[in-house]
Amino acid sequence: MEFDMHSSYWLEGKVALITGGASGIGEATVRLFIKQGAKVCIADIQDELGEQILKALGSGTHARFIHCDVSKEDDISKAVDFTVETFGTIDILVNNAGIIGNMFADITEADLQELKKVFEINVDGVFLGMKHAARVMIPRGKGSIISTASLASILGGLGPIGYTGSKHAVVGLTKSVASELGKHGIRVNCVSPAGVPSRLTLPLFPAWLGKAAVLKIYFAVTGYYANLKGVHLEANDVAEAMLFLASDEARYVSGLNLTVDGGQTVVNSPFRLIISIMRW
Ligand code: NAD
Repeated sequence: MEFDMHSSYWLEGKVALITGGASGIGEATVRLFIKQGAKVCIADIQDELGEQILKALGSGTHARFIHCDVSKEDDISKAVDFTVETFGTIDILVNNAGIIGNMFADITEADLQELKKVFEINVDGVFLGMKHAARVMIPRGKGSIISTASLASILGGLGPIGYTGSKHAVVGLTKSVASELGKHGIRVNCVSPAGVPSRLTLPLFPAWLGKAAVLKIYFAVTGYYANLKGVHLEANDVAEAMLFLASDEARYVSGLNLTVDGGQTVVNSPFRLIISIMRW
């Protein structure tokens, strides 16, 4: 089959539901999917931000917003139904909504209620999204479900205990549901980004540092750990990985945890540094 990637949009005519689409990685994904020809429904708890994005996209755009708390089955079910009523179907679900929890509590201090809250959004939300998207996708015999995991789905020590546990669970859900839905022609994957500056990560730094200094420190730390130099990870880079998995170009890709990490998880950067010093 011949494919000219410049002749058409990657998601022409497709319908996507994107949770956590009102900010950060989700917002970048909304914008990229729209640019690539998709009709998009944003599901988020931040109504004001969601409406602002719709306004910025312009009145002619095929985009809608629905208030949806992903930890509530009724909300997810309604968001799925709303997308189908508005745009006719769902081809792509992006389970992106997530929270991080208390970054600095160790195991002896960690609070069970907080861990449960993180799991409710990061794990229950993904499970519920998969469940309700599947009821629309199965009869059609096609679909792509993508969830935002994290490098914390692979490595310990990058995020709080609850967050790390929850993101490992996203990979487990992805593999399990991929194994089940493959027979219906539905692909299920997840994406694991390294650190992206966003509302989730930037508030972890003391506010008195100021945004410019925070970004400088942020990029210095993440840049040190990434094996790939000369580029900083941004929300749009993650959206591009989502775009590939959402598109028909990924038609034989299912059950994958796609890292977007500049090689961080395959190279031991501190050890490479020691070797360089020894060579010198
Ligand atoms: P963000 O805070 O900018 O975006 C998260 C979005 O999820 C927000 O719009 C928020 O309103 C929404 N949300 C939170 N709780 C919700 C709920 N109960 N129901 C519906 N929506 C809800 O942060 P981000 O960095 O863009 O994070 C997006 C995803 O990427 C998360 O799943 C996060 O764990 C993951 N991730 C982020 C990073 C990073 O470094 N920023 C790295 C790896 C993975």
